[in-house]
Amino acid sequence: MAPSEYDVAIVGAGIIGSAIARELAVAGHSVVVLEAEEVAGETSCRAMGHVGAYDDSEAQLGFTFFGRRLWEELSPELPPEVDFVRRGALWVARDAEEMAEVERKRAVYRRARVDVDVVDGRRLATMEPNLAPGLAGALWVPGDIVLDAAEATRYLARRASELGVEIRTHTPVRSLRPDGVDLGNGQSVRAGHVVLATGWQAPTLLPSLPIRPRKGHIVLTEPLPGYVRHQVTEVSYVRGASPTQSESITFSFQPRSSGRYLLGATRQYVGSSTEVDPAVVERLLERARLFLPGIREVPIARTWAGLRPAGPDAVPILGPMPGRRELLVAVAHEGIGITTALATGRLVREMIDGRPPSIPLEPFRPERLAAPKS
Ligand SMILES: Cc1cc2nc3c(=O)[nH]c(=O)nc-3n(C[C@H](O)[C@H](O)[C@H](O)COP(=O)(O)OP(=O)(O)OC[C@H]3O[C@@H](n4cnc5c(N)ncnc54)[C@H](O)[C@@H]3O)c2cc1C
Repeated sequence: MAPSEYDVAIVGAGIIGSAIARELAVAGHSVVVLEAEEVAGETSCRAMGHVGAYDDSEAQLGFTFFGRRLWEELSPELPPEVDFVRRGALWVARDAEEMAEVERKRAVYRRARVDVDVVDGRRLATMEPNLAPGLAGALWVPGDIVLDAAEATRYLARRASELGVEIRTHTPVRSLRPDGVDLGNGQSVRAGHVVLATGWQAPTLLPSLPIRPRKGHIVLTEPLPGYVRHQVTEVSYVRGASPTQSESITFSFQPRSSGRYLLGATRQYVGSSTEVDPAVVERLLERARLFLPGIREVPIARTWAGLRPAGPDAVPILGPMPGRRELLVAVAHEGIGITTALATGRLVREMIDGRPPSIPLEPFRPERLAAPKS
């Protein structure tokens, strides 16, 4: 067999493919990235950019916390346009029942050694005076970060390129081969490993992967500096994000350095259109009004929708496909792909180099799915 042109071919230059490329380049591998459109042309340019610890499961908490730590480590080299800010997050509760959830969350986070505190309604009102009066309190996560997901993706790809990675945009992959990939233009690329990082479109190349697009709408406001200072999310968000919920609308509000705010989060399994549904935006604004009564007075600059790559559970699918050691997948990051991009890159590098993993890999392996076939 002819020698491979590259150690690794990565399919997809969203935040996951770009982070893997940078990590493999740091380790000295020869890498090519094959992207059908542009770098950050799909879901990674439509996200909110809350880099947080999320606790749907122990595996998810460990993974997101690891991801947040790696962003923290990378922060000194990030350029200003990535807009990396340690804002801290407030998981807000409206009543005593939701405060019980805040307490549960505190116990889980503390067990995982994530620095958190519970704040009562009075302290919450001082921290965020524009929140609705009478809220019960919140979980305060001081280490959570906010960044610009699209710019972060572009930075990772640019850095990978500076380190020698070849990034080919407008280069769709048509099919996977045991020794590389076939391109849409009829050519092929040979590589020792192929890493599939094609987000919600992963089943196109590997139909056995149980991934569905999960639509999310975002509202971007005009600037109103100081209106909200922290990442604020309602505490029932994680329940809403669970893959078993067919539809959910939960409040999540994110300040950016520009003085603008991003409002989310909606979740729907309604196919692969990114067309904005005004009725869903209206419901999102209604939900937001429960937490920010003045939200209707903040002018809206733009709305859009993106597609989260949702798997059957709330942890991504990472690792070699059963029976095909050369084919690795890094998909199904749903609503935590920005947070866990660097962690994904690190784990993929460790797998390819045959090194011990930084965190246990078992919860992520494709083998955990019902009969995944390549
Ligand atoms: C509304 C919304 C809000 C979100 N908020 C957050 C948040 O606050 N925090 C967080 O951590 N996460 C958040 N996420 C989740 C995050 O955006 C995703 O998990 C992440 O962007 C997925 O990245 P990806 O690289 O897997 O996919 P993508 O960004 O979709 O990249 C996949 C790439 O593969 C390419 N591709 C596909 N098929 C082919 C092919 N055949 N050949 C070549 N290239 C191909 C595509 O063109 C695309 O560029 C949010 C998502 C949404 C939609």
